[in-house]
Amino acid sequence: MKFELEESLRGAPNEELLEDLRRSAKAIGRNTITMVEYGQIGKCHPSTMQLRFGSWSKALKLAGLQPSRSKIGITDEELFENIESLWVSLGRQPRYGEVKSPSSQFSASTYEKRFGSWSKALRAFVAWIRSDSQDQNLQEVEAAARPADSTVQMASPQRRTRREISGRQRFRILVRDGFRCKACGASPLDHKGVVHLDVDHILPWSKGGETTDDNLETKCKQCNLGKGNAFNA
Ligand SMILES: [Zn+2]
Repeated sequence: MKFELEESLRGAPNEELLEDLRRSAKAIGRNTITMVEYGQIGKCHPSTMQLRFGSWSKALKLAGLQPSRSKIGITDEELFENIESLWVSLGRQPRYGEVKSPSSQFSASTYEKRFGSWSKALRAFVAWIRSDSQDQNLQEVEAAARPADSTVQMASPQRRTRREISGRQRFRILVRDGFRCKACGASPLDHKGVVHLDVDHILPWSKGGETTDDNLETKCKQCNLGKGNAFNA
């Protein structure tokens, strides 16, 4: 039963997924819901929400719900997303002393309490990044593309991937490219707080390019907008 429902929501419009999030939160009498709770009462797997909206917290936000908190406070996902944004803004692995306000949403001691130490938190973060594999993305789309599912809106039956780049795939590409723009070499490592890196398709998705690691690259905002590099003197 659950399996059939899960399949039926996979290709459903965004609003239908968000409505199910709201329904589930209401069912437990709160204005938020954790991934574990949604996994028990929701109509689809929490990972379907993550893939569609980029992350669990983004799905909650779009549904008009509050960020989820586990019984012991903050969710692991929130802690990992905070490491990710710190890492991206620095262009490298954040150091213990950098895990503080205002650049970090959570303190280093929060990580120590949850994972034992900052280095253990970083190891858990890396495992979390890796758990969002490209294969998972492909499988999701293949499942959604089944002819039996009439609500699926695919641009073309030949597509193997969805257009959206998941947060974790984006992070993997940034790491692979050394947090440098592939066009001009700009990096937050050299221009702290000035360079904003994007990950984009090499062959545009609209022209048949897939959302696979080999068709994605890091570009700074300037190059991505076709404005060239503002840092070459
Ligand atoms: Zn650039």
